[in-house]
Amino acid sequence: MFRLKRKNYKMDIDGVGEITVKEFATSKGMRIIVHRDTSVTVTHRPGIAKNKVECFVRQHSSWIENAKKRCARRAENSPVPQSNHAVDPEEVARLRNAAKNYLPERVRLVAERFGLKYNVLKINRARTRWGSCTSRKNINLSCFVMRLPLHLIDFVILHELCHTVHMNHGTQFHALLNRFCGFREKDYNRQLRTFRIN
Ligand SMILES: [Zn+2]
Repeated sequence: MFRLKRKNYKMDIDGVGEITVKEFATSKGMRIIVHRDTSVTVTHRPGIAKNKVECFVRQHSSWIENAKKRCARRAENSPVPQSNHAVDPEEVARLRNAAKNYLPERVRLVAERFGLKYNVLKINRARTRWGSCTSRKNINLSCFVMRLPLHLIDFVILHELCHTVHMNHGTQFHALLNRFCGFREKDYNRQLRTFRIN
């Protein structure tokens, strides 16, 4: 879809905090997004005045507050707490450690559940992709997956495991993955795109 970004600005609202406002040519009305790090973005179609945006946000302040609480709780449930800091060596070590503790057993379980066979799991520090699968059915996962919510870690694992059946991104691959993830492939991919790998 063609999405033209027009302008962004920030605004500080009592009781809500800082919000980022983004104008999109294709937006319909106004939409509030509470991100995983509890930052808040409002998107709207062009031509909506600042005071209208402020009024809209105030009207939804209790919803925003609840959404922020949910995000904070979700972060606590993650294998590793979320961090917004630039990646430093200590952070990478922490993520690798968490990955080594969590992923081998998790990959084994997911593979078992869907009757998929892989050879070796390797954990790397790739910052360009979450995972990969070789023709020898070796699975590589980036330790940065540990920053994802659990359901998306499973989704990344499942994606790579499906490559043990189809070594491409063809129709059959997507059909298999989509079926295995309860027909939520599109949704999960959309969610995944909201996370940066680095
Ligand atoms: Zn793939």
